[in-house]
Order: sequence, then C-alpha cells, then structure tokens
Amino acid sequence: MLIMSNVKSSIGDKALKKTTEITCGSLGVGDVGKIVSVFGWCRYIRDHGGKLFIDLADRHGTLQLVFEGQILKEAEVLGKEYVVHVSGVIKLRDEETTDKSNPTGTIELFVNKLEIINKSSIPPFELIDEKKKFLANEELRLKYRYLDLRRKEMIERIEFRDKLTKSIRKFLWENEFLELETPTLVKDTYETGSRTFLVPSRTNEGRFYSLPQSPQIYKQLCMISGLERYFQVARCYRDEDPREDRQPEFTQIDIELSFKDEKYIQNLIEELLRRAFKEVLKKKLKKGFKHIMYRDAIKEYGSDKPDLRFDSRIVDITEEAKASEYNMLKRVISSGGFVKAMAFPAEFGSATSKIEKNYLLKLIELAKELGLGGMTWLFVSNGKLCSEPASIINSLGNSAEKIQKKLSAKEGDIVLLFSDVSERLLFAAMGKIRKVMGDRIGKYSEEHIFLWVDEFPMFEKEEVTGKLKPAHNPFSAPKEDTLKYLNSEPEKVVARQYDLVLNGVEIASGSIRIHDPEQQRKSLKMMGMDDKSIDETFGFLLEALSYGAPIHGGAALGFDRLVALLSNSENIRDFILFPKNKKYESPLDGSPTAVNKKRLMEDFGISTDKQV
Ligand code: ASP
Repeated sequence: MLIMSNVKSSIGDKALKKTTEITCGSLGVGDVGKIVSVFGWCRYIRDHGGKLFIDLADRHGTLQLVFEGQILKEAEVLGKEYVVHVSGVIKLRDEETTDKSNPTGTIELFVNKLEIINKSSIPPFELIDEKKKFLANEELRLKYRYLDLRRKEMIERIEFRDKLTKSIRKFLWENEFLELETPTLVKDTYETGSRTFLVPSRTNEGRFYSLPQSPQIYKQLCMISGLERYFQVARCYRDEDPREDRQPEFTQIDIELSFKDEKYIQNLIEELLRRAFKEVLKKKLKKGFKHIMYRDAIKEYGSDKPDLRFDSRIVDITEEAKASEYNMLKRVISSGGFVKAMAFPAEFGSATSKIEKNYLLKLIELAKELGLGGMTWLFVSNGKLCSEPASIINSLGNSAEKIQKKLSAKEGDIVLLFSDVSERLLFAAMGKIRKVMGDRIGKYSEEHIFLWVDEFPMFEKEEVTGKLKPAHNPFSAPKEDTLKYLNSEPEKVVARQYDLVLNGVEIASGSIRIHDPEQQRKSLKMMGMDDKSIDETFGFLLEALSYGAPIHGGAALGFDRLVALLSNSENIRDFILFPKNKKYESPLDGSPTAVNKKRLMEDFGISTDKQV
C-alpha cells in the first residue's frame, strides 16, 4: 500500500516528491485504498451519533473525514477551524452520499490517526461554503479578513487575481520589458491633481516625503536612463474622497517605452489583454479594439468612457424641435439652447420591458438632480412615435416622424428628450442617464467591449475656479498641429493621451510624454505655475529632460478594477487582499490611528492641537 503525506519529502526522492503535495482538494477516486496523511482546518462538523464527519479544508478544497470506533473519542473535542493533521485510508463513498458538486465528493478519509496542531476560537461568522447565504456583513468580514480569506469564494477571487498577474507578467517579460521597482517615498509633486499622503521624515525634521500617486515621473526617469521598456506591478496612493469603486491604495500595471508612438503602445496593451483573456478566462477577444475620439465620445455618448455594449446615441434634434409647436423646447432654443434625444431598445409595453411609467418618473427626477429642467419621454408603438398624454406628440407635429427617423427608433423603443442652454451640461447629464438606462435594460450585444478613447484635450477648466488643469497629468505631449492654440484657446490643444474603456469603465490611461524641457515648462506654466514653483516642484524632472530624453510614452492599467470587472463584480474590495472599508479605514488593524502629541513633537517636530 502506498503511503502519501503532505509533509515535505526528503530532497532527491523523485517518486515520493510526486506524491507528496497532497492537499484537501487533490485526492480523488484514483486514490481509493491509499493511506494518506493531510493537514487542514476542521470546517464543517456533523455528528451522526457513533460517526463524526468533518470537512477538512485548505485552499485547494475540502476532504470529508470520517471518525468512528476508537478514534471517535479523540475527535469529539474538535471544533470549527481547529487545525489538524490526520492519517487514514481513502475509501469510496456510498452512491447516496456522493457529492457531485465537490471534486473530492466521491471519496472520504477514514481517520486512524489524529494530531491537533492548534485550537481555534469560535469564528465570528460562517466560513462553510454551503452556508454562504448566511454570510456576515462586509465590515465584520473585513475585521476578520484572514478568516474571510479562508472561504472558497474569496480564495477563488484571490487566485483569479494571481492568474491574471502571472499572465500579464509573462507577456511583458517575453516582450523584453524589465520589471523594475520605483521608490514609494518620493517628492510631493501632486502630479495627477489628487491629494497626496504625506510621510514625515524623522531624520530630516520638518520635511516630508509623499507616497506616489503613480510611478509616473520615475518611469519617465527610467526612460531617460535608457532602460527603454519598463513595467511594474505598482502600488499607488491617492488621498481622494472615498467612493464605492476606489481605494486609497491601489495597484496598477504600469508600463513605459521609448521610441514608440501611441499606436504601438495601444497594440501592446491590446495584445496583453488578448493573451490574459485567452489564458485566464479561456475567451478569445476580437482583434482590433474600437477607437473613438474624445470629442466624439462626448458628443455621441455624453461620456469619455462610453459603454458600447448598447448602441443608444445622443442625437441633436434642435432643428426638428424648432420646426414644431412644442413651446417648452422652442423657448430653450430661442435662448440659444439645444434639444437632444436618445432612443433605447426597451421593448416598452411588452411583458419583458424593464421600463415602466413609474421608472420614467424617477428618471425625470434624476434629470432635475443633474441640473436639467426635466425630460420628455416618447415611445414607439405600431411603428409610430407616441406620447402620454398625446398632446406632446401632437405638438411635435411633422417633426415627430423626422425625429423617429433621425434616431432610427424601432418598435418598443423609449425615446428621451432633453433641452438646455448649456450643451456641456446636456451632454454630461445625458451621459449619466444613458448609463442608468443601459444598466436597467441590460441587453448587451457582447460581454466585453473595449474602446480606446483618443485625443483628450490637454487642459480642462476647473468647474469652480475656472483655472486650467491637466486633463490627465501635466506630462502628456500636445499634438503638434494643435499647439497653435496654446495661448489663444488652450482648451483646443489636444493631448496625445488615450484611455482604455471596458464596458463603460476606464481601465487604463496613458500618453506620449513631453520629452523637451522647454515644452514641459510651458505646459506647467499654462496650468498656472510660475517659474519659481515649477523649479521647486519639477526642477529635477526638467533637469533630467535636458540630458537627452528620448521620445517616450506609456500607460497604466487599473488592476484592481480590471480584476473585478473580469469577474463580473463591481466591488473592488473583494479582489484586494486586505482592503480598506468605504470610509478608507481598516477594520482589521484599526488604521488610521491617532498619534500621540508627544511622539509627533519628539520624533517629527510636529505640533498639533488635533491629536490625542
Ligand atoms: N501615470 C498615469 C496614471 O496613473 C498613467 C500613465 O499615463 O501611464 O494615471
């Protein structure tokens, strides 16, 4: 009889080595009759009087243990999550006790030797997969994350993330990228416009490092060093306001190359994702992701990250509305405003429609919250645009048919009409409503649609102050032919910047960078910095650029979000090993914690009234 054990075998014994890596999930029918020894956690304990069944678990699966006869007494002390080492014989289960949903469900281990490695306190929530519906709330699971990570669902998520990381790493290594590590105690350069986490220096009292918002400047410095193809699975930190899909520290796959243009970089990212999809999801992605210009994305979808799994577009119907008798719209037009519409395949009026009148009333409220005066809704029935009440369609008169044609609205479609004097506001609000409607209808043409959004503007106006800020980061290169607008109409300057969008979510961002120090200085000045503050903040970069900087560019993939999206989940916390909660606290270790005033003063020379 072959004896197997998951205790490490002596080095060099090949035959034994092959059979040593037994785990709770590795055994099957082929092992019937073998004596095995295995470690694991006592997960699911069932006392059948005279026979004790325990599902022994580890990260690879669960194995049913059977205790009967003499060993039963010893096993009676076992509790949930006790760690044990057991030995015994593998036997086939009876037909009626076979569990087809479990890969080891046809066998069980009849234990004849039990060693208790460690006891466990009673777990604060259920870890048993079969009892998933009694799962504790997220806050409690985050507090005991190390226990939550023992659950099958969590193990699968973490393993999925690992597979994706490995696939991406392999691809980049094969393509001659160097995996490099840039520092995480850096100069405070607030490069992305987000707030930074500051770290006080004890050895240089009164001075601070910051945690990098991204490795942006350092990866550019790598290019100046001639390292030419860089990547990093990089930890980034941004002290932004908490949001459901954000974490204050997150991971990005950060890439930078020299002497390549945007087309090359975009192709590379495409290949990387095609490969990951094939290897990890076993799915073939179509070659050649779609592209759209930033300005067209805003015009047609009201968003710089449109979800193209459904086709509804924004169509301008100002002319048609002007020619009608619909006074409410005509008033907006005569004040210089616009009327725009979108059609949605809602199957309105059918039993399967997810859009009812009540829902449309809620949408009107949403439109108002988004700053619009309201919304008019129409629907296609018996081939024609209709309204409730009919007075709306009557006042549209002959324009109704033209509008229907312009929108290519089909039977059952819902048509939403909006008007405003600000075209910008109209696009922004309609983009949001489009997304809400898409989520509600949810009839998507394909599972995953990638879209490159190209040619972002170089600058955006800040809503409140009206100041120019970089649309991406201040290092993106301008498109040469738009530089002529730099002084007169800076918002017309186009950056060589691109975002990659998956199903309406931005998953990557990148650009070709400025490699000329003079141009870099000019760009920073446009953002309101004077020479003094430029030299203080970015002097080291400008100096580096002056020593023969190559043409360079790159991108970064938001990795946490990508992993969640590919798992059809919206909760990025589920895919991060030890995440913060929605308030950016760690229920596990209690951070952030208050720091004693005395210590702040003594170690860092910082005095504050706020700390305890
Ligand atoms: N550093 C940029 C970011 O974190 C990405 C890039 O342009 O490569 O968004």
